Amino acid sequence: MIVIMKRGATRAQITNVTARIEQLGYRVHLSEGEERTIVGVIGNGRPLDREPIERMDGVERTVPILRPFKLTSREFHPQDTVVKVNGVSIGGEQLVVMAGPCAVESCEQIMEAARAVKEAGGRVLRGGAYKPRTSPYSFQGLGEEGLRLLAQARDETGLPVVTEVIEPQMVPLVTTYADILQVGARNMQNYALLHAVGEAQRPVLLKRGMMSTIEELLMAAEYILSHGNERVILCERGIRTFEHYTRNTLDISAVPLLKQLSHLPVIVDPSHGTGKWELVEPVSRAAVAAGADGLIIEVHPHPEEALSDGVQSLKPGRFAALMESLRPVAEAVGRTL
Ligand code: PEP
Ligand code: MN
Repeated sequence: MIVIMKRGATRAQITNVTARIEQLGYRVHLSEGEERTIVGVIGNGRPLDREPIERMDGVERTVPILRPFKLTSREFHPQDTVVKVNGVSIGGEQLVVMAGPCAVESCEQIMEAARAVKEAGGRVLRGGAYKPRTSPYSFQGLGEEGLRLLAQARDETGLPVVTEVIEPQMVPLVTTYADILQVGARNMQNYALLHAVGEAQRPVLLKRGMMSTIEELLMAAEYILSHGNERVILCERGIRTFEHYTRNTLDISAVPLLKQLSHLPVIVDPSHGTGKWELVEPVSRAAVAAGADGLIIEVHPHPEEALSDGVQSLKPGRFAALMESLRPVAEAVGRTL
C-alpha cells in the first residue's frame, strides 16, 4: 500500500510514519514530490492494518496497491523518473536517440559509426561486445576488446555508451567501460543478472523479452529496483507473433501503457522490432508520436558487410534523414529532439 501524507506534513510526521511501518517489519520507500510525500510500504504480500496508520498525524489517507509491481509503479512514484547519464537525461522533455551498430566489429567500424551518430544528433552510442546469438556459429562479439573500442569511441565523441551484459559475473567488467548496462530480450528473466545489475552503479536499459508480457517486463524491472538501482530504462523491442514478414511485432501500445503503469522512461527499438531497415523510420515516428522517451536504432557504416543484423541497420545518411523526419513529430507531441 501507499501512505499519502497531507500537503505540508512535517519532517517529524513523515519520520514517525516511516518508523512505525518499519517497526511492523515492512520496508519503506519514500517518494518526495513537490506538493506532498508518498510513503510506499513493501511487505511480501502480508496485509498491513491501514487504520492505525491513517490515524497518525500528517497522514491524509492510505491506498492499497493491488498490482504485483510496487517500486516500478506510477502509484508509488507519481513523477516521471529521469535517468541521467554523463549529461544526457532520459525521460525528460528532450528525446534521446541511442544509435550504433548491432555489434562492435573493428576500430574503424565503431569510430565511423560513432561519428555519424554524433553528427546526426544521436546522444548515446550503442554497440554489442557480447552478443547473445541464436546460433552458436554466428559472430559472438569481440568481448573485452569490443568494450575497449566503445570506450575509445566515447572518448573521441563524448557520447555515453550502452552495451549488453549477458552474465552476472561480467557486470563489474562491463561497468568499468559502459555508461549504461543493457539487459537483452533473451535475458529479461535472468534473475541472477537482474540482481547483479540491480547492485551496479550504472543505469540499466532493460529490453522486453520476446515472449514476455508487460507485467513480466515490469516485474523484471522490479527486481532491479528492489536491489537498489532505480535508474532503469524500459525498452519495447517487439514480441514474437505469427507474423513473419517482420522479425518481431512491435507493440506500440506498450509505450503509453508502460508510461501509465510506471514512472520509468520508455524507449523503443524499431530495428529489432521490425527487422527491416525500410520500416525503421516510419516505426520510429510512430514511437515518438505514442509518447516514447527515446529510441535505440542500429546504424552501420556498411550494413551489407555487417557481421550481425545488417538487414535492419541504417546507413549513416539514412539515419541522419530519420533524425530530421522525427523533428516535426517530436514537436507535435510537445517534445524536443
Ligand atoms: C541488441 O540490442 O543488440 C539485441 C540483441 O537486442 P534484443 O536483446 O532486443 O534482441
Ligand atoms: Mn542487433
